[in-house]
Amino acid sequence: MFVYADNAATTAVSKVAIDAMMPYLTTTYGNPSSLYSFAQNAKEALDEARQTVADIIGAEAREIYFTSGGSEADNQAIVSMAKLGALKGKKHLISTKFEHHAVLHTLKALEKQGYEVTLLDVHEDGVVRIEDLEAAIRPDTALVTVMFANNEIGTMQPIKEISEVCHAHGIPFHTDAVQAMGHVPVNVKEMGIDLLSMSGHKFHAPKGVGVLYAKRGLPLFNIIEGGQQERGKRAGTENIPGIVALAAALKESVDNMEANAAKIITMRDKLFAELSKIPHSKINGSLEHHVPGTVNMCFEGIEGESLLLLLDAKGVCASSGSACTSGSLDPSHVLLSIGLPHEVAHGSLRLSIGEYNTMEEIDHIIKVVPEVVAYLRSISPVWEDLENGKRQHLI
Ligand SMILES: *Cc1c(COP(=O)(O)O)cnc(C)c1O
Repeated sequence: MFVYADNAATTAVSKVAIDAMMPYLTTTYGNPSSLYSFAQNAKEALDEARQTVADIIGAEAREIYFTSGGSEADNQAIVSMAKLGALKGKKHLISTKFEHHAVLHTLKALEKQGYEVTLLDVHEDGVVRIEDLEAAIRPDTALVTVMFANNEIGTMQPIKEISEVCHAHGIPFHTDAVQAMGHVPVNVKEMGIDLLSMSGHKFHAPKGVGVLYAKRGLPLFNIIEGGQQERGKRAGTENIPGIVALAAALKESVDNMEANAAKIITMRDKLFAELSKIPHSKINGSLEHHVPGTVNMCFEGIEGESLLLLLDAKGVCASSGSACTSGSLDPSHVLLSIGLPHEVAHGSLRLSIGEYNTMEEIDHIIKVVPEVVAYLRSISPVWEDLENGKRQHLI
């Protein structure tokens, strides 16, 4: 059996998205900047996609900028607010320790350019505390950026409360909503979000297309210079097929959100209930304030990498954290940020399921994970020490 349980890394493109984009690859392939009528169809498709995305998040079409993905949107949002702040003498940026690297590495680059960055702690439940944010705000704070939902442990942040604190201090608020879009309701007006990033391939659109929402009046600075596309804020011929697919996939996800969530949560709860029967295992973060599909657990005494390889051999695609950190031997910064000791963080497994998964697939995971964990423990010197009391169990 083959089970794809890594939907937080990427998703399959939906049939609706493929059908929507196909004409723009084959027959209606004009460049929307061209003036002849043949290209106007592409221009209309672009306008329509922009309106669809805007309507879904409670924005205006002119507040939507198409990008190459979530990373570019994060970069542009943060760099823009940093530069805007600097013009007013404000060079302090606030974020959290468990952001995606698209945010953390952008902040690091800005630090090298003379900005100061405060990264908020994330508590054991995977949620940032408002008091910590309030304490970190300074008169020279130029931006607060806090992710909507975490990509490794799935916990959601109190976005509305965070935006209220930011606005009380006149600070723009950006959120990386890549893991939330299409899975939970997101409304920029109701939630007070000034800038928001999303990525198509996390909700069944193709890879390489994303969105930056920036509230009207907030100046954006270019990351990509060139032509006048995206109202001069993002040069490069628009990825029309990708953009059309993104809008179609997002609409499909939002239209089916409740039914999908109900199905996914039923599968996730069974998965968690069964896997938590494995002795010395624990959920990372908590299942409260959580996107439906992501479960992250640790199993003491084993290596996450070995676990993944053996699961792969049994047909299960999972992750030990973010795809961006796999290949490195450092444990995930997300798991360390919620207080996991190094040796426990190493034994972590992220299963992220979606509406395309079936209960049969969940049953397969429930069967193979305990077998693989038991096998790895049987050959683990660390587990032996834990069992004969030479080391203390941490969970
Ligand atoms: C996947 C992801 C990104 C990056 O999006 P890309 O479109 O792959 O560049 C950024 N933030 C989060 C939280 C993600 O999960």
